[in-house]
Amino acid sequence: MSNDRQALERAMWHAFAHLDGLDTSPVGARASLTDLRKALTRPLPQRGMPAIQVIDELVADTKNGLLGSQGGRFFGWVIGGGLPAAMAADWLTTVWDQNAAVYACSPAAAVAEEVAGAWLRTLFDLPDAASFAFTTGSQMAHVTCLAAARHSVLAARGWDVAQKGLGGAPRIRILASADRHGSVDRAVRLLGFGAEAIVSLDVDDAGRVRPDALAAELAQADAPTILVLQAGELNLAAFDPFETLAPMARAAGAWTHVDGAFGLWAKTCPELKHLVRGVELCDSWSTDAHKYLNVPYDSGVAFIRDAAAHQAAMTLSTSYLPGGTAGRDEIDWNPEFSRRARGFATYAALRELGREGLADLIARTCRLARVLGEGIGRLPGAEQIAVSDLNQALVCFHSFRPGATQSDHDQRTDQVIAGINASGEALFGGVTWRGRRAMRISVCNWRTNDDDVARTIAAVESVLAKMQDT
Ligand SMILES: *Cc1c(COP(=O)(O)O)cnc(C)c1O
Repeated sequence: MSNDRQALERAMWHAFAHLDGLDTSPVGARASLTDLRKALTRPLPQRGMPAIQVIDELVADTKNGLLGSQGGRFFGWVIGGGLPAAMAADWLTTVWDQNAAVYACSPAAAVAEEVAGAWLRTLFDLPDAASFAFTTGSQMAHVTCLAAARHSVLAARGWDVAQKGLGGAPRIRILASADRHGSVDRAVRLLGFGAEAIVSLDVDDAGRVRPDALAAELAQADAPTILVLQAGELNLAAFDPFETLAPMARAAGAWTHVDGAFGLWAKTCPELKHLVRGVELCDSWSTDAHKYLNVPYDSGVAFIRDAAAHQAAMTLSTSYLPGGTAGRDEIDWNPEFSRRARGFATYAALRELGREGLADLIARTCRLARVLGEGIGRLPGAEQIAVSDLNQALVCFHSFRPGATQSDHDQRTDQVIAGINASGEALFGGVTWRGRRAMRISVCNWRTNDDDVARTIAAVESVLAKMQDT
């Protein structure tokens, strides 16, 4: 048997063992940092070794340091699993090892991306002329979109940022939700706007940017302006009122970008699309296929209404790469040069699910998040403090100690989270939300089903029963 075949067959065998073990293995990592360093820190070999030995040892050495995020009882962050066709297409992507930089390097990769991008644009109801890029994640989708925004708002003032840079340019203001994701701030830093360019906009109780806050800022200064809104905030999955805010920004000459890492997927579900009403009125959109679409990492997508601004911000041509074919050169739209042919996995996921399967996945995870939040919230001493219209919920646990303070309640909440995570039955994250510690519940894995939810509620109940009355 060839070395290729041996190594890949061994990997396949280990992959099946991993997937088959998801129901019975602990969801959290068992190994400590010390354990993992000890296992993986081997001498850099002078001479090589057989590929199957490398693979077997890699599996043995990492085994207890992997999270069960592929399984149905991982609720820690908005992570998602891998759909069968998406995982398999991702394997093939590795084996084919295409460099999806330009059409000539991999014609099939370029066309698969072209088709998958157009499918997504249709699913999200975005303008037919919008351009797109498959990036590593929403972080780089933000960078791509905001680079186009920078180009556009400065061009409107007669400034060519591609040629002149930012030195001496009119200073750009970034208006963004106070509850934004940190990746927005980093994109702003990377693009040279500076963190001080960001003005945080007040949100209402539901976590939505207040129209009066935006109106006040738009009236403030006559500077080139980029507004960053959100479809799916991290804790409440809040959706900004795009229908109201986007026209205000447009009237003021501002560019509106949407962080829709997971929330934009609501648009693909008939029962939930009202949540993102008006999102199509904005100018650019970031989302992730590796979260809600359940495609393996890394897979983000950027969409931009003004394709010319997008291309002007990203394009690159060199004499040694044959450009100018009728095919789509990815390098015109992406921040990367050489890159993985990541469009295949998204193409495969969309075909496996179809419109109906995708709508069902989104609706199902949202229903299960509600059942889970309510179920845990009904346990003794528990209280569901926030439930979203999407796939998130927050639960607190109360200390039974007489005269207990907020810090006692916070401590108990952290103890319950630690207890359930240590049990291995499920995994949750914690967050400090409006001054209280809370258990964060995110459901976005296609595998999660009613049994997983019932099993998790029972596991939290038994953790509570075992805890002393603190
Ligand atoms: C995950 C997430 C991001 C960052 O996306 P990556 O794919 O990790 O780069 C940005 N915004 C929100 C709301 C997210 O949930």
